Amino acid sequence: APYSAAADRYETLPYRRSGASGLDLPAFSFGLWQKFGADYPFTTQREIILHAFDLGISHFDNADRYGPPHRAAQQTFGAVLAKDLTRYRDELILSTKAGNPIGASPYLRGGSRKSILTSLEHSLRDLRTDYVDIFYHHSPDLDVPLEESVGALVSAVQQGKALYVGISNYLPDRAHAAAELLRAAGVPLLVHQTRYSIYDRRPEQNGLLDTARRDGFGLIVYSPLAQGLLTAKYLETIPRGARAENSTFLSPDMIDDTYRQRTAALNKLAESRGQSLAQLALQWVLRRPEVTSALIGASSTAQLDHNIAALRFSPLTDEELSLVDEHGVH
Ligand code: NDP
Repeated sequence: APYSAAADRYETLPYRRSGASGLDLPAFSFGLWQKFGADYPFTTQREIILHAFDLGISHFDNADRYGPPHRAAQQTFGAVLAKDLTRYRDELILSTKAGNPIGASPYLRGGSRKSILTSLEHSLRDLRTDYVDIFYHHSPDLDVPLEESVGALVSAVQQGKALYVGISNYLPDRAHAAAELLRAAGVPLLVHQTRYSIYDRRPEQNGLLDTARRDGFGLIVYSPLAQGLLTAKYLETIPRGARAENSTFLSPDMIDDTYRQRTAALNKLAESRGQSLAQLALQWVLRRPEVTSALIGASSTAQLDHNIAALRFSPLTDEELSLVDEHGVH
């Protein structure tokens, strides 16, 4: 049957303003990094994407690199866009990223103008759209002048191929320098995409949260569930088909006794609040006003339903926050 979006899709999920910009993003955004390439059934992928949209998740995050093979995830999204979501294009925030390697050529990697703008052309074709809403430089490239990488992002906006620009994985100093260059070019930095979770405190420790506040950009935080480690599912065993079973990015070696101890303690804390560890972990990243959106993945619609319920629970108390610190930091 032809897809028709849920009529109540804007009734539950809060939207949050990205930094000092004018753009609101849903508190949860959806990323296609894992299980959206040729490694998972298209019917399931399509079902998850459409379910996310029905839940009010209007922001979908891609990168030219996501697959396997590279570019396949955004081709998956492009197929769903063409089949089901074309008439909702105005309601979608689509992002993609350039700069991480997708081939052996020096022009298929890195922060040169050639690499970044070539990647954008590929991505627009893959996504089957004329423009992306947010175009990112995926990772800092210290071998390329920052002016060149930032200049390529500015050109993307000037050419009408992107509405906003972002950076990802930049440390605070370089993020600040990029923000200044972008401001001077009249294309303010919308958002910085960084890893942040109970198990990865770097944005607090290295000052990125402060930089975001000062420079007026939002943070969209990836792997807020530490790829699934901040759920109860690995406490006993590695379930069949879970990411830790067969992903090169989540090694089963991470799941040792230390992991099980701290995760069981966090799980108990979540249970005492009447929620799951996944829900607690998502609430935890979103407690920071600098964090505009939590960027989640999912391999089923049930995970999505479960996760977006996180904001229905009462805010974490100071006492609960210190218990999280006690168990979460090692
Ligand atoms: P998460 O930490 O949210 O992990 C999501 C995974 O955890 C799911 O795919 C699923 O994996 C598992 N999971 C989710 N919910 C549950 C649940 N309720 N119970 C049990 N398991 C659950 O985020 P990701 O690591 O997937 O990253 C999200 C997005 O962030 C990416 O898609 C990408 O867009 C972006 N990203 C950006 C990077 C960058 O460099 N800029 C780097 C990495 C990610 P499964 O069921 O398969 O085990």
